[in-house]
Amino acid sequence: MTIFTKIINREIPADIVYEDDLCLAFKDINPKAPVHILLIPKRKIPTMDDLVQEDKEIMGHLILKASDIARQQGLAQDGYRIVINNRENAGQEVFHIHIHILGGRKMSWPPG
Ligand code: AMP
Repeated sequence: MTIFTKIINREIPADIVYEDDLCLAFKDINPKAPVHILLIPKRKIPTMDDLVQEDKEIMGHLILKASDIARQQGLAQDGYRIVINNRENAGQEVFHIHIHILGGRKMSWPPG
């Protein structure tokens, strides 16, 4: 079980900003930008490499919700970044797929 399952199950606390039947969004405990939200499916999908056809709906749902949450957080006008770190080279630490929503400051490209 990952720490994100524990957050879904309310076994450990999190600052939740959005929830529905399919997903949960909460503030990153170690924010990398003034706004840093993590958006996760409630069903555990460890990595991008575990996605199957049936995940089209949940992944589409997550992208639409990422856009809603960014708007709610006041990021839409100035812009923001969404990130999925996948496996070791990208620095994935929690093996429950998650979208980072980062905003509130100017970001550089390419990423480090
Ligand atoms: P990643 O490196 O893409 O796997 O991102 C994992 C993220 O989860 C990191 O940005 C961590 O700061 C964040 N994180 C780890 N534990 C918690 C927690 N208990 N509550 C909120 N965010 C967490």
